[in-house]
Amino acid sequence: MSGERQARRAPGPAEIAALLGSPRCGARTRTGAACRAPAVRDKRRCRKHGGGKGSGGQRGNANALQHGAYSADMRAQRRAVMDYVRACNRAMKDWG
Ligand SMILES: [Zn+2]
Repeated sequence: MSGERQARRAPGPAEIAALLGSPRCGARTRTGAACRAPAVRDKRRCRKHGGGKGSGGQRGNANALQHGAYSADMRAQRRAVMDYVRACNRAMKDWG
Protein backbone atom coordinates (compact mmCIF):
# COMPACT_ATOMS: atom_id res chain seq x y z
CA MET A 1 0.00 0.00 0.00
CA SER A 2 1.38 3.43 -0.84
CA GLY A 3 2.13 5.81 1.97
CA GLU A 4 2.88 3.00 4.34
CA ARG A 5 6.13 3.25 6.20
CA GLN A 6 8.68 0.60 5.31
CA ALA A 7 11.20 -0.73 7.81
CA ARG A 8 14.67 0.52 7.00
CA ARG A 9 16.74 -2.25 5.50
CA ALA A 10 20.37 -2.49 6.56
CA PRO A 11 22.69 -1.26 3.77
CA GLY A 12 24.90 -3.85 2.10
CA PRO A 13 28.71 -3.53 1.93
CA ALA A 14 28.58 -1.84 -1.50
CA GLU A 15 26.11 0.74 -0.22
CA ILE A 16 28.22 1.36 2.88
CA ALA A 17 31.28 1.89 0.70
CA ALA A 18 29.34 4.35 -1.48
CA LEU A 19 28.08 6.23 1.58
CA LEU A 20 31.55 6.46 3.09
CA GLY A 21 32.92 7.71 -0.21
CA SER A 22 30.34 10.48 -0.48
CA PRO A 23 31.54 14.09 -0.39
CA ARG A 24 32.08 15.47 3.09
CA CYS A 25 31.09 18.88 4.44
CA GLY A 26 34.52 20.08 5.50
CA ALA A 27 33.26 23.19 7.29
CA ARG A 28 35.43 24.30 10.20
CA THR A 29 33.78 23.26 13.45
CA ARG A 30 34.09 24.88 16.86
CA THR A 31 36.94 22.56 17.71
CA GLY A 32 38.78 23.75 14.62
CA ALA A 33 38.55 20.40 12.88
CA ALA A 34 36.79 19.90 9.56
CA CYS A 35 33.17 18.68 9.72
CA ARG A 36 32.96 15.06 8.63
CA ALA A 37 29.21 14.93 8.02
CA PRO A 38 28.15 14.09 4.45
CA ALA A 39 27.45 17.09 2.25
CA VAL A 40 23.86 17.64 1.11
CA ARG A 41 23.23 16.34 -2.42
CA ASP A 42 24.48 18.87 -5.03
CA LYS A 43 25.89 21.08 -2.26
CA ARG A 44 29.26 21.42 -0.62
CA ARG A 45 28.15 21.59 3.01
CA CYS A 46 26.18 19.32 5.34
CA ARG A 47 22.64 20.10 6.56
CA LYS A 48 24.02 21.86 9.65
CA HIS A 49 26.57 24.10 7.96
CA GLY A 50 26.42 26.81 5.34
CA GLY A 51 28.72 29.14 3.51
CA GLY A 52 29.94 26.66 0.95
CA LYS A 53 29.56 27.29 -2.74
CA GLY A 54 26.00 26.43 -3.78
CA SER A 55 24.68 26.29 -0.23
CA GLY A 56 21.74 28.38 0.92
CA GLY A 57 18.40 29.03 -0.68
CA GLN A 58 17.48 28.73 -4.32
CA ARG A 59 18.28 31.54 -6.70
CA GLY A 60 15.77 34.32 -6.26
CA ASN A 61 14.75 33.16 -2.79
CA ALA A 62 13.15 36.13 -1.04
CA ASN A 63 12.62 34.62 2.42
CA ALA A 64 14.78 37.28 4.06
CA LEU A 65 14.00 40.07 1.62
CA GLN A 66 14.58 43.54 3.06
CA HIS A 67 11.75 45.44 1.41
CA GLY A 68 12.03 48.64 3.45
CA ALA A 69 8.30 48.98 4.14
CA TYR A 70 9.00 49.39 7.84
CA SER A 71 12.07 51.61 7.58
CA ALA A 72 12.01 54.85 9.57
CA ASP A 73 11.61 56.81 6.32
CA MET A 74 8.60 54.84 5.13
CA ARG A 75 6.94 54.88 8.54
CA ALA A 76 7.39 58.65 8.77
CA GLN A 77 5.90 58.99 5.30
CA ARG A 78 2.87 56.86 6.23
CA ARG A 79 2.47 58.80 9.48
CA ALA A 80 2.44 62.09 7.55
CA VAL A 81 -0.16 60.80 5.09
CA MET A 82 -2.38 59.47 7.89
CA ASP A 83 -2.05 62.76 9.81
CA TYR A 84 -3.24 64.54 6.68
CA VAL A 85 -6.12 62.08 6.17
CA ARG A 86 -7.22 62.56 9.78
CA ALA A 87 -7.00 66.34 9.42
CA CYS A 88 -9.15 66.13 6.28
CA ASN A 89 -11.70 63.91 8.05
CA ARG A 90 -11.86 66.38 10.98
CA ALA A 91 -12.37 69.24 8.53
CA MET A 92 -15.15 67.35 6.76
CA LYS A 93 -16.85 66.58 10.06
CA ASP A 94 -16.73 70.24 11.14
CA TRP A 95 -17.94 71.37 7.74
CA GLY A 96 -20.92 69.00 7.38
ZN1 LIG B 1 29.10 20.25 8.29
